[in-house]
Amino acid sequence: MSAPTSGAAEPRRFAPAERYAELAALGDVELGARMLAAAPTHEGRSPERLRAWARTAIAVGTEMAGDADAAGSGAEARVAESTGGLRRDEVLLAEYRRRARGGTVVLYTDALDYARTVAEAAGWAADFPREAVRAAALDHECAHRLLHGPRGRDLRRRLDHTAAAVGRLRVRGHVVGADEIAAHAYAHRRGRMRRSPLLLTAAVAATLAHAGPPAPAAPASVPSPGGPA
Ligand SMILES: [Zn+2]
Repeated sequence: MSAPTSGAAEPRRFAPAERYAELAALGDVELGARMLAAAPTHEGRSPERLRAWARTAIAVGTEMAGDADAAGSGAEARVAESTGGLRRDEVLLAEYRRRARGGTVVLYTDALDYARTVAEAAGWAADFPREAVRAAALDHECAHRLLHGPRGRDLRRRLDHTAAAVGRLRVRGHVVGADEIAAHAYAHRRGRMRRSPLLLTAAVAATLAHAGPPAPAAPASVPSPGGPA
């Protein structure tokens, strides 16, 4: 779970209050569509197309969470805490590290603190209690792991994005960012937060965008599984 950054790692500046209010007025579908629109691969796609994909990804993530509520996620992993989530190009709340004998979700406590600070600056402290943000980061990584299985195939089928068509042969394409939206929806439903993790991610990204243009020759950051949030 991460938010892309476009500024230097420190110091970070917060977004103007009206920017948070503007984001809060958008629903998850619009926030998701904007997240998709940020990917270069979706340049030139219509807002309607992006909103439809966001809607589908949210539906799949919410359904996954409903199933996990009933039967358990089946994707539990070890959890470790670390610092180092505040990176040059992104704020990384958590990531899944694969190991030969099971994986570990690494929670970045400095990034969680940063997300909490953003929530406070936006006036949403009560909507994003620290424990809830922590749990959402864990659920988010859990969703990514579930999306590596049949759920991911279900998502691709329902997105119904044709990457190529030759006569009657269609090649189903990957919609970059859709798994990220599904993972946010999963975490939202599992955690039952008053406000959406998509909103918090958008707010964190807004603070970083506010900090200025990307620094040249920034080192590559480590994306969370499934790509940058
Ligand atoms: Zn993610």
